[in-house]
Amino acid sequence: MLCMECGHELERVCGPMTETYRGREYTVDGIVRDVCPACGEYEISAEESDKLDRAIDEAYRRDEGLLAPSEIKALRKSLNLNQKEFESLLGVSSPTCSRWETGSMVQSHTADKLMRVFLDHPEYAVEVLEPSRMVATSSKPITLPKRQEQWGSGNAPIRGKFNVVPGGKAA
Ligand SMILES: [Zn+2]
Repeated sequence: MLCMECGHELERVCGPMTETYRGREYTVDGIVRDVCPACGEYEISAEESDKLDRAIDEAYRRDEGLLAPSEIKALRKSLNLNQKEFESLLGVSSPTCSRWETGSMVQSHTADKLMRVFLDHPEYAVEVLEPSRMVATSSKPITLPKRQEQWGSGNAPIRGKFNVVPGGKAA
């Protein structure tokens, strides 16, 4: 295979690769790619690139103290929620949850903190989800309070159930 940049013959290597992710530098070993010894360009397969990304994501999660994919899944299972319900609980779009659980996406710090709250206080999850469940299942019609009879305004005579006797006591 020849280099796309300079035409030099590429060399297959399997060794450490350094990438920058969210401001941090990570070196992952054992990544196979074809490197150009002349200009430094390289070609990498989708599988190897995916392997590299996952290794970096994992290292980043560890460095930032974020929940691992298996921990996220375990939390969701312990709350007895499916992925859609779990996404609704955290206010994230679908299919965010499956991406977290397969490790193809790293959760934000906000989502991670929220998940830790539910990890420590699973009862909060019920409180958060309950209102939406009630709306979804309620068949009761909503009755509005009856409109109060309005008092007259300005110079309009006062109407209502009171009889006003001028100069005297109410009947
Ligand atoms: Zn080259």
